[in-house]
Amino acid sequence: MPDFDFDLFVIGAGSGGVRTSRLSASFGARVAVAEDRPLGGTCVNVGCIPKKLLVYASHYAEDFEDAALGYGWTVGERAFDWSSLIEKKNQEIARLNGVYAQLLDAAGVRRIEGRATLEDAHTVRVGDARYTARTILVATGGWPSLPEIPGVEHGITSNECFTLKELPRRVVIVGGGYIAVEFAGIFNGTGSDVVQLYRGAQFLRGFDDDLRTSLCDEMRKKGVELRFNVNVESVEKIDSGVRAILTDGSSLEADQILFATGRAPNTSGLGLQQAGVELGPKGEVVVDEYSRSSVESIYAIGDVTDRIALTPVAIHEAICLADTLFNDNPRSPDHEDVPSAVFSQPAIGTVGLTEAQARQRFERVDVYTSKFRPLKHTLTGRNELTFMKLLVDRATDRVVGVHMLGPDAAEVIQGFGVALKCNATKAQFDATIGIHPTSAEELVTMREPLPEDS
Ligand code: NDP
Repeated sequence: MPDFDFDLFVIGAGSGGVRTSRLSASFGARVAVAEDRPLGGTCVNVGCIPKKLLVYASHYAEDFEDAALGYGWTVGERAFDWSSLIEKKNQEIARLNGVYAQLLDAAGVRRIEGRATLEDAHTVRVGDARYTARTILVATGGWPSLPEIPGVEHGITSNECFTLKELPRRVVIVGGGYIAVEFAGIFNGTGSDVVQLYRGAQFLRGFDDDLRTSLCDEMRKKGVELRFNVNVESVEKIDSGVRAILTDGSSLEADQILFATGRAPNTSGLGLQQAGVELGPKGEVVVDEYSRSSVESIYAIGDVTDRIALTPVAIHEAICLADTLFNDNPRSPDHEDVPSAVFSQPAIGTVGLTEAQARQRFERVDVYTSKFRPLKHTLTGRNELTFMKLLVDRATDRVVGVHMLGPDAAEVIQGFGVALKCNATKAQFDATIGIHPTSAEELVTMREPLPEDS
């Protein structure tokens, strides 16, 4: 048995890489992790955490209004300072970077700063140093991908949104996925004029159709200009910012144009192909059910594998992998019924199948929906509607999809994720007492399915 420097060498200290490192070390493995950017990866530095902080910041505009409109408050003059928000956010992210370092150190993981590349199935190079490892984990995440159009370099990606020096007064957002709708809400709430362009007929492809149309309605009510079936053909730099030329022949001027056009696995220049690792069409590391690549000693987890690009999924994959490699407990990650949220405004929370998927899979599907004005807005008069939907396989009575659009949707749906994991039936939903007065109680009090031909 050759003598390796480490039992596990992890490339990438994001959510997946850090969890695998710490857990493997706790099982007695000798572990190193290499990272060339701040610790914590996308989630901590340019993703989930700072995004949610910006969502909180942007929602205050409505909160102040609601307080005055419905709840007796006199709200004084309001002003929003983008740079102060970014500074506060930066402080918190720096704190988290430090926490990650401490956690790795406390677990006895060797931290190596720098860009790692593979030399062969057991060798990694970082700068001038070369390390050998019995197993190597590629956990390098993803990176924003840009359309190949003239002038695309004048635009920004979500990465840059987190450090913009000033709040753009006018923003064009290209794309109709998670990041596009989340930033549309952030910029709209903080006072920018937002135009969001999506190339298809309805954004958020892959989500339940009723959720998509309901979010579209609510975003328009809040003042986001949504334009569908249109794309950007080219971008020019002009004195006042940028000009986007659109496929319908029109043009738009803005201070910033944000391309939220997807993320691609971060595999280029890593030496993966040289080491014999098979990559898929998007550049993702192709892995088996135990996250093993085509090379026996090389594994990959998280966004770089293009399975489900969500932090908690990467962490789950990490736990399974550490258990498999170093805890004598081989297990493969479970990618079924993964709850997720979009921190749009209002937010989406969802778990299980969409109606279209449920109808494909089951012969008869009962659909329960509810659309209502939440209690809070009976006093404010705000015309923001909450939407909820349950999908039930009639043959087994199993609830196979739960969808919500509305305040706190992410918090509500987390618990329903447990119910779906337990194969809960509609009868069990009905037997659950609601918590009153909440929006969530609606999900256990829906009694009449929609007529079958509706
Ligand atoms: P998504 O894949 O969700 O969306 C990309 C969007 O860009 C789609 O609407 C797509 O259109 C559009 N698009 C792609 N290529 C082009 C092009 N050439 N021109 C115009 N439009 C284009 O990617 P995101 O970047 O929004 O997010 C990446 C992933 O990160 C998400 O899928 C999610 O897994 C994760 N994420 C999760 C969050 C959360 O949990 N709240 C938040 C943010 C990200 P089309 O639909 O037609 O393909």
